[in-house]
Amino acid sequence: MKPLSFRQLQLRVLTLLFLLFSSTIIGYRYFLELPKLEKNIALLAEKELKLLHYGVQTALTSLSRLTYDYSVWTSTYEFMHDINAEYIDENMVPDTFNSLKIDGIFYLNENFEPILTKGLHHLSNEKLTFSFYDFKKYPLNSKMLPTPINREGAPHKEGFINTQYGPALFSAFQIRDSNKFGDNRGFLIFLQLIEEPLLDLLNQSTLTKISIDNDILGKNLNGLPLWNEKIKIEDVKPYRHILFQDMNGLPVTVLKIKHSKGKLPPLLNEHSLIFISILSLFIYLFYHLIAHTIIKPVKKLALSIKLVDEELGFKLLEEKFSVTELMVVSNNVNQLINTVQQQNDLLRKQATTDQLTNLMNRHGLLAVLEIHKDLCIRQGITFAVVMCDIDHFKQYNDYFGHLEGDQALVDVAQVLKLQCKRTNDYCARYGGEEFTLLFSDMSEKDLQEKLLSISDAMKTLNIAHPKSKTAPHMTFSCGATIIKTTDVVNHSLPISDIFKCADQALYEAKSTGRNNFVIKEFVTLVPDEKR
Ligand code: GH3
Ligand code: MG
Ligand code: MG
Repeated sequence: MKPLSFRQLQLRVLTLLFLLFSSTIIGYRYFLELPKLEKNIALLAEKELKLLHYGVQTALTSLSRLTYDYSVWTSTYEFMHDINAEYIDENMVPDTFNSLKIDGIFYLNENFEPILTKGLHHLSNEKLTFSFYDFKKYPLNSKMLPTPINREGAPHKEGFINTQYGPALFSAFQIRDSNKFGDNRGFLIFLQLIEEPLLDLLNQSTLTKISIDNDILGKNLNGLPLWNEKIKIEDVKPYRHILFQDMNGLPVTVLKIKHSKGKLPPLLNEHSLIFISILSLFIYLFYHLIAHTIIKPVKKLALSIKLVDEELGFKLLEEKFSVTELMVVSNNVNQLINTVQQQNDLLRKQATTDQLTNLMNRHGLLAVLEIHKDLCIRQGITFAVVMCDIDHFKQYNDYFGHLEGDQALVDVAQVLKLQCKRTNDYCARYGGEEFTLLFSDMSEKDLQEKLLSISDAMKTLNIAHPKSKTAPHMTFSCGATIIKTTDVVNHSLPISDIFKCADQALYEAKSTGRNNFVIKEFVTLVPDEKR
């Protein structure tokens, strides 16, 4: 897998948090809140349907109660014996219709023939001429009458019927000679049109809007639930159609009940906005905390390690971190830096030190020369370079053997080292039995004294050299040169020129008898035109 940068990681974590957050909200809303709401709406719808059923039943019952009262009333069965105007004048008045809230009263004899019928709109007092009781014309309607009985009782029927003025509730009772015992005298029918006043009454009990759909001709009403049927509340519907049938099962009307609506609260309301703000604040703080305690320190640590690698400065890393693991990393890297530094120092020392004499080797000497060359060019500090070469060393080796030769080299090195007393005096083994000395800021006179002092020290060391043609003890010859500011040409002072000059002086010292020194004026070999 491709490694990710912190920025990419931050982005992914943020995206993930965002997705998590939104899916939680959507999940909660649509998988928890919505089903709960739907269940509640279904329960409410069921309650509303039950109330509608109760309302219709109550309307039928109160109509039947009125019809019953009239059918068992002494005046009524007396009227059935003897049709008199007094009864009509007293009962068939608008006030009866208005106060009983009925729109039609129909008296039929035992042969189902009308004796007295009256239709009057109980609100508008408009005369209504009904014909549904004309059983010769509408034989099916005869089913609205109860079957007469001889034993005690007041048989009755109630229900719904279609009239030319629209759907209506009816209640029909048998009229008997005396109360509930006598012979059959006929039937009494009360009728109430299903219109606004009745619907208002039903609306009050259902607490929801009910409207009527009388325009049912030609409509497919199959599958519509009947008003007195137990309705299954399977799914939430905004409204339902309830079918009302007459005594023959023919459709009379359809009631449309508008269920109370329930809907999810808007996603972004006052509460959800507060919740989102608080959550966003938490995410931001969390993100900031991670960025502050982990991401920034890790980046800083990585940069510090990179700088150590680039600059080889071996500066130790900061170890103060708020995360333990980062402290451990920094601590371990610091230990590694220390180890590398020590090994580096050792290597550098080994690279610039001569193994046999422990003096600086040619490598180290060149570095020191570079520094003094720069000091001379920039600050005008002069310096002297001396090349020392042991006289007849080959013979010494041949005579005493190589090991003795080595020891002699170590002893001579010691003597030379002791002659370099100042901080800026250097002694190096140039190679073989040759040594180089460097003295900073030294006059020619002082240099002569120094070289005499070295010669004396060699004499004092007194390494026997029987094969030397120069002296009975080991001696050496020196060639020296002093580099002055005037020797700097165009900021240039080639080191090879310095060695060449000192070498020439050494050659002169060798050729003029050995065990002596020659100081030669430094001459740069930089071409004339560059001067
Ligand atoms: P001259 O007076 O002209 O300098 O004569 P010389 O014999 O000193 O010079 P030459 O260049 O002929 O010989 C140098 C000798 O130094 C040869 C070599 O065996 C010896 N030598 C060089 N390095 C070492 C070393 O590390 N140990 C030992 N024992 N001898 C060395
Ligand atoms: Mg030599
Ligand atoms: Mg020699």
